[in-house]
Amino acid sequence: MAKTRARDIFRWKSPSEYESSDPGAAKSTKPAYTGADVGADPENELASVAASAQELLRWEEALGGAGFPEPRAIQAPERYAEGLGFEASDLDVRARLDVLAAEAAECTRCELHRGRTNSVFARGAPDTDLVFVGEGPGYHEDQQGEPFVGKAGQLLDRMIAAMGYDRDGVYICNVVKCRPPDNRTPLPTEARACAHFLVPQLELVRPKVIVALGRCAAENLQCVPPAGRWRGIWGDWRGIPVMPTYHPAFLLRSPQFKKPVWEDLQEVLKVLNREPPKR
Ligand code: SF4
Repeated sequence: MAKTRARDIFRWKSPSEYESSDPGAAKSTKPAYTGADVGADPENELASVAASAQELLRWEEALGGAGFPEPRAIQAPERYAEGLGFEASDLDVRARLDVLAAEAAECTRCELHRGRTNSVFARGAPDTDLVFVGEGPGYHEDQQGEPFVGKAGQLLDRMIAAMGYDRDGVYICNVVKCRPPDNRTPLPTEARACAHFLVPQLELVRPKVIVALGRCAAENLQCVPPAGRWRGIWGDWRGIPVMPTYHPAFLLRSPQFKKPVWEDLQEVLKVLNREPPKR
């Protein structure tokens, strides 16, 4: 794989670039972070390097440090490098996620910011092979700033444990980071605005499998066919297999659907080459 220059690694995408890569848009094989569009124009080159340096300083500030890192600091684990096409360390992934989370906390891209107590970015391990994507924060999540901490979250934790994972051994996030009023489903415009966060978040974590919890998550990961059944049918989001299944909040209201959801999760375990623990 060709080496990528530091300026490419630290180049942060502009908002318009994120919008063009939102989950509602056509699939693209273009990596999320690329410096390929800088071109040969020296002025463009200079502007790009300056923007990269600014982003690097922001990143450093988020880490509590100052100045430029040693070159070794950007050596990459293979998994991440394969996924995104450039070199970066786990520390880099976590730092970038921290920067995104800090940006989400100040975000006013959609009207949902008006009602939030806290933005709710994610919980769990970014170096996991399994990510769950839900719809949006509810009351308890908004209060605590953490996804899936209410009753639905407790059920999700039991589902995760039944799969043989620790609660904090997976990564959990939502389509929108701020609570919709009365826990309604996020509007398409809100989901599109918040793709500014979801897309790079999933690209950075780059798990082996994503579980979409509920139709809203499945739709925003482009995994709902135009007609017919959507639950339990494998989809694909930028090369990552996606298993759409019912949301735990729905299962609290309709526990008779726990069985098909467990069947979906067993399919996920097969792809991950894992078996549920013996009970
Ligand atoms: S839901 Fe997302 S896009 Fe809307 S204000 Fe919150 S962080 Fe920003």
